[in-house]
Amino acid sequence: MQTQLADFIRATPEGLEAEAILRKCVHCGFCTATCPTYQLLGDDLDSPRGRIYLIKGALEGGPITERTRLHLDRCLTCRACETACPSGVKYGRLVDIGRNLVESRTQRTLWDRCKRAVLGFVLPRTVLFRAALRLGQLVRPMLPSALRAKVPPRASLPGTWPAPRHERRMLALAGCVQPALAPSINAAAARVLDRLGISLVEAPDAGCCGALRFHLNDQPGGREDMRNLIDAWWPWAEGRQTEAICTTASGCGVTLKEYAHLFANDPDDRVRAARISLLAKDVSEVIAAEAPALEKLLAVRKPRGRIAFHSPCTLQHGQQIRGVVEGLLEKAGYELTPVADAHACCGSAGTYSILQPDLSQQLRVRKITALEAGTPATIATANIGCLAHLQGGTARPVRHWIELLDEALQE
Ligand code: SF4
Ligand code: SF4
Repeated sequence: MQTQLADFIRATPEGLEAEAILRKCVHCGFCTATCPTYQLLGDDLDSPRGRIYLIKGALEGGPITERTRLHLDRCLTCRACETACPSGVKYGRLVDIGRNLVESRTQRTLWDRCKRAVLGFVLPRTVLFRAALRLGQLVRPMLPSALRAKVPPRASLPGTWPAPRHERRMLALAGCVQPALAPSINAAAARVLDRLGISLVEAPDAGCCGALRFHLNDQPGGREDMRNLIDAWWPWAEGRQTEAICTTASGCGVTLKEYAHLFANDPDDRVRAARISLLAKDVSEVIAAEAPALEKLLAVRKPRGRIAFHSPCTLQHGQQIRGVVEGLLEKAGYELTPVADAHACCGSAGTYSILQPDLSQQLRVRKITALEAGTPATIATANIGCLAHLQGGTARPVRHWIELLDEALQE
């Protein structure tokens, strides 16, 4: 694609990066077939190719309107288009650059700004989010059904977190909403890793990975959260006191892996961010690397029921991890049911389910229909956002796969 970026951005790091990405796009349109918003709306401007044109126009100094922002807002950042693209177009980075520019040149309504401000203030702060959640759970029985579906019932108790006893040690990302919604997930990961000879620990003062505010188009706020997290982890990461940083939420994991890129032009934090990205691993990668030890633990395996696995976009497209969790669950004796259109987003996408409720719900209905087609006993996934979103649309239990592996190892 020929480009002629405007003077205001041409020589900046963002401009140079965007130009390199845009030049790779050959307009073939292969990406449109996998785009959930194009499938729902049928408008080329709601496809990756259309959005690439919009961003190109904005970067070349063309008009930036509320319609430009609307089509970018509707994008889930699921990155299914990146997986489908034969030319290696890094759409996810391009849309970040485009959104930042469009946000700075347009004015949202007061209501939209308030919603985003509240989400950006409450969600990354576990204490505030937990308090809001408890309040919602108290009044849950009195809420109208549509609202009730958005408030999950109280989480089950996390169970034991083994005391650190192994030489091998990894840091776990506690995250922001996960400790309030499902504290059992990281505890299950700690038990599984403990059996594999690895102690999992959480660093005090380590909060949100920054993805929430960054993807609410508050990129400076997101970067601030990222820096705070790097500060909290640095004593472990610098002193090589941790072998890896293990994430059980694939949405956070993909963000940690992008720190190196996001801070590449930051002279103060470039080196530290690169180290964090190097250490970041999804828990499935950590466990798959311990295959011989896991095989021994699962030597006596028995059939454990039917599972439909929803691979979050941040796992399969963002981190390009495919088939790993499915393989681990099968090793543990679970029968995986087939899921049509497994590449498709469930509609959760961080705060998308709140900001774009109509599109999000349509995608959830499609996803749950596909997941339930094989009549599984349980739906499993790998990201807290997908888990909570899917659970709001089905009576079947939706769980993190690490909890299922933990249960298999306990028996
Ligand atoms: S598949 Fe890739 S090269 Fe083709 S239009 Fe989409 S982004 Fe461009
Ligand atoms: S990230 Fe997802 S929703 Fe956005 S353009 Fe790509 S495929 Fe479509």
